Amino acid sequence: MIEKEFIDILSRENAEIKLDEEMKSHTSFRIGGKADCFCSVRDVRSLRNIILLCRERNIPYFILGLGSNILVSDNGIEGLVIRLDGEFNEITLADDNIVRCGAGSTLARLCNFARNMSLGGLEFAWGIPGSVGGAIYMNAGAYGGEIKDIVFSVDYMDKDGNIKRCKDDELDFSYRHSAFTDTDNIILRASFRLEPRPQDVITEKMQELMEQRKTKQPINHPSAGSVFKRPVNGYAAALIEECGLKGYEYGGAQVSPKHAGFIVNDNGASANDVLGLIDHIKKEVKEKKNVELCCEVRFIGRT
Ligand SMILES: Cc1cc2nc3c(=O)[nH]c(=O)nc-3n(C[C@H](O)[C@H](O)[C@H](O)COP(=O)(O)OP(=O)(O)OC[C@H]3O[C@@H](n4cnc5c(N)ncnc54)[C@H](O)[C@@H]3O)c2cc1C
Repeated sequence: MIEKEFIDILSRENAEIKLDEEMKSHTSFRIGGKADCFCSVRDVRSLRNIILLCRERNIPYFILGLGSNILVSDNGIEGLVIRLDGEFNEITLADDNIVRCGAGSTLARLCNFARNMSLGGLEFAWGIPGSVGGAIYMNAGAYGGEIKDIVFSVDYMDKDGNIKRCKDDELDFSYRHSAFTDTDNIILRASFRLEPRPQDVITEKMQELMEQRKTKQPINHPSAGSVFKRPVNGYAAALIEECGLKGYEYGGAQVSPKHAGFIVNDNGASANDVLGLIDHIKKEVKEKKNVELCCEVRFIGRT
């Protein structure tokens, strides 16, 4: 329960505050109960004040990107959900071939900026939904590229409000993992090392990869992308399909008939429907293929 006095203090910061905010409006799954408080913060000073206030009052907080890799509980999220806005959307050309981008910006804006500057390297990321912060946190990747290939440095805020910088070799990137995974550190902005490339070559590659996505993925249905990480041998989607689960429904959730690695919310699914379907898929794949699938999608909120 958040006290009125806490909200009054928050309201003095450079941030927009909403109480009892429906999280289904902030996730690509279109699923999730209410967050006690949703806070779009516009500058670093206010971000620091807000997290220090939360820590002082023992109020939990969660940093949200664009909600494209999370499943939010039907029971909502306790405390504050913080979204980086305002100055966290800024993108600049910092130096020759180095682009600096705020963590709140969409990855799509960053890709477009780089293309307009005739800088290549981000083509693989065109079509990955989400924010720059989320892409770094997850080490997002596709079609042979990963964020780790182009990140030069990341500025972050630790839980005491100190701002620090991590260079590329300190970022502990691996498959869908970074130095930020499961820490309290907040990614503020990042610098990307790109390379000169003609605009039409960049555009052509981006269009080609987007076409592949449209053909293979159910991008017009609410989902969180691939639900499971790639197992050591093979692909999760192929294993799920071989178990006869393509199109399988559980409540309002369905294994996408187009791509068995995706679960889609086709019929007003609840988070519990998705969790039930995930359990069923894991059980079947373990029994029939002897493979333990691990979730890439992160479950957030009250259990
Ligand atoms: C249709 C579809 C296709 C997809 N295709 C791909 C794909 O090809 N490749 C791929 O890798 N992913 C893919 N995804 C998954 C998703 O787009 C990526 O994981 C994306 O990087 C998540 O970014 P986000 O901003 O939405 O993060 P969110 O889902 O909001 O958050 C993910 C995690 O990052 C943390 N986080 C976010 N911002 C910050 C920050 N500033 N500081 C600290 N922590 C932060 C959150 O706390 C959370 O733990 C797809 C998803 C969809 C819906």
